[in-house]
Amino acid sequence: MFVQRKTVNTKVSISGIGLHSGIYTKVELRPASAGSGITFVRADLDGLRIPALQASITAFDYATTVGRDDVSVGTVEHLLSAVVAFGITDLDIQIDGPEVPIVDGSALPFVHLIDAAGVRPLAVEVPVLRIKHPIELVEGQKSIRVTPSNRLVIKYRIDFDHPAIGRQSVHFDFAHESFAKKIAGARTFGFVRDVEQLRAAGLARGGSVDNAIVLDDRGVINGPLRYRDEFARHKVLDLIGDLALIGRPIVGEITANRAGHALHSRFVEKIIAAAEAEDEQRHPAMAQPSFA
Ligand SMILES: [Zn+2]
Repeated sequence: MFVQRKTVNTKVSISGIGLHSGIYTKVELRPASAGSGITFVRADLDGLRIPALQASITAFDYATTVGRDDVSVGTVEHLLSAVVAFGITDLDIQIDGPEVPIVDGSALPFVHLIDAAGVRPLAVEVPVLRIKHPIELVEGQKSIRVTPSNRLVIKYRIDFDHPAIGRQSVHFDFAHESFAKKIAGARTFGFVRDVEQLRAAGLARGGSVDNAIVLDDRGVINGPLRYRDEFARHKVLDLIGDLALIGRPIVGEITANRAGHALHSRFVEKIIAAAEAEDEQRHPAMAQPSFA
């Protein structure tokens, strides 16, 4: 199964503050040639290139970070979620600092940005990663698994012991539903009680009521929500962004339960390892000569 590779039609840019670093950066999406993949390009560091691939991951505690040597780009998941939702496979993402702007905390500003640029099909195809056997990862009450399907479907369940969140579940079918309408607008969220600890650890320095749903112990302090189940929808958004690091489109039915970036990341690793093992079976490396 193959789909056409795609890039953007023209350069477009967006600026803003980084959620964790508090640093302002400008991101420019630029057309890239077929087969080059999605790449972060540090404009402020001689154009150092960091492929948006699982192998580049350097951190996934509160957001997903990709890096190379000592250089990194943080909070890539919301932007990558929008990029792959458009079917884009080849793109240079120029950035002049260490973190993608959080903008409003969702992927909607990136959807509008890509809409403004337009998407251009390239005359080359990319093989889709089609899941043939179930893959599962369980860690206490957290789990994530994928089973074979003819299209990408994501089911995400969360259960937070908080009056404004509780149990929520979302079912998103990529082929039949709109990412822009159902998922892209869902914002990231954080708890007032964690802020001091996060800031002491150098995190959430750019976080505010303008770029995240903020909760105290009783409820949302900066409502209204955009969706009743905005929290679970945001988890779907995050997962799509983390799946982008596979480096090609994936088809399967994914069920996640109370997962997060750390589990997403290990899951993506497992999917890649399974796909490589299958490729190896189909095209075995030449047998080593034996001199015994
Ligand atoms: Zn997120």
